[in-house]
Amino acid sequence: MRFDLTDDQRALRDAVREFCREEILPIARQIDETETIPAGLRQKMAGLGIWGLLAPPEHGGLGLDAVAYCAVIEELARACAALSISIAVHNSVGCLAVAQFGSEEQKKHLLPRMAAGDIAAFALTEPDSGSDAASIRTTARAEGDSFVLDGTKVFVTNGEASGLVIVFARTGGEGHRGISAFVVEKSTPGLRVGTKELKMGLRGSDTVELVLEGCRVPRTQILGREGEGFRLAMSLLDGGRIGVAAQAVGIARAAFEEARRYAMTREQFGGPIGNFQAVQWMIADMATAIEGARLLMMRAAWMKDRGLPCTREASMAKLYASEKASFVCDRAVQIHGGYGYIRDYPVERYYRDARVTSLYEGTSEIQRIVIARSLLKD
Ligand SMILES: Cc1cc2nc3c(=O)[nH]c(=O)nc-3n(C[C@H](O)[C@H](O)[C@H](O)COP(=O)(O)OP(=O)(O)OC[C@H]3O[C@@H](n4cnc5c(N)ncnc54)[C@H](O)[C@@H]3O)c2cc1C
Repeated sequence: MRFDLTDDQRALRDAVREFCREEILPIARQIDETETIPAGLRQKMAGLGIWGLLAPPEHGGLGLDAVAYCAVIEELARACAALSISIAVHNSVGCLAVAQFGSEEQKKHLLPRMAAGDIAAFALTEPDSGSDAASIRTTARAEGDSFVLDGTKVFVTNGEASGLVIVFARTGGEGHRGISAFVVEKSTPGLRVGTKELKMGLRGSDTVELVLEGCRVPRTQILGREGEGFRLAMSLLDGGRIGVAAQAVGIARAAFEEARRYAMTREQFGGPIGNFQAVQWMIADMATAIEGARLLMMRAAWMKDRGLPCTREASMAKLYASEKASFVCDRAVQIHGGYGYIRDYPVERYYRDARVTSLYEGTSEIQRIVIARSLLKD
């Protein structure tokens, strides 16, 4: 199993790394404190092709495979996790939803827009339906050539910044078979942004409530077949979870690099703290956790690229990488001593940003259920 990038992919990864160094790292703290991603930065990223990482080239995107996509998301998350989640949601459950399940007309109409930076959001979760996604209550009532959507979605990443939202709603009876997916233009009457969440971390990424009240959507905007929405969501989440693993690896790497630098420069008892075995062991455990997480992530991505079933591997990668990201960030704070708790040092932000990776796109408990079920089914 080899996870090599092609020359073109490596060049893109390096260009993204350089872009992060020049344009993102200097303002990552500002993004966190102001809870805003500057509009100019979004535009500059469009020039690099970031909004079309997973859109096919014939529709204006870069058409990256999962291995290359993970390498790029890792770089972005290392610089600014809030930005990386906005890009990951847009690509992995936005562009890919249209590319994989859209009609030719939808692809032609939507993908070039999305690849150019018209941001997508993914609205599945509801106040009473989180891990149990098949229990959503938002309804889509057929009326002539349209569906009329009513309900409330919560925790919608990019919900404010987006021009398009993939909304999941009930067109049939109870359970997962009654759910359909719709591409809804944000400007559609009857769709409005509700409460904006104030979060512990990822503060630059907007997370909002979306309220649908008599929101009329043409039948042509159904994504995939009627009643296929739950299957569509679950299949997209395999890729999404590998992307969250990449994000977790990126945050952990950032924390590790800061901690390593600090261990070599901070002096106590007459020498660098990195001379103490206690600190060396933390550094060793952190580096090992990151390597392990990256290998699991790359294995899942490699399998996905070959069309192999990878639900279990995606869950393993997400579970391990997200929990290790929190561990690594915690150790990075520890190595910084009291300064790790102070905002002037970025490990404080990494610690907050890492925490959510074991919550969204399926909590750690849900990943363990997926893994255990697949191991025990035969
Ligand atoms: C910052 C952020 C961004 C998000 N972005 C999006 C988005 O863009 N689109 C979207 O649709 N959603 C989004 N989400 C929602 C996210 O996917 C859900 O929060 C997540 O799936 C968990 O659902 P919940 O919060 O309702 O928790 P619950 O499902 O209520 O879970 C609460 C606790 O119970 C545990 N639990 C639940 N069921 C079981 C079980 N069967 N066995 C064992 N334990 C269980 C959970 O693991 C958890 O510990 C986002 C969330 C956050 C925090």
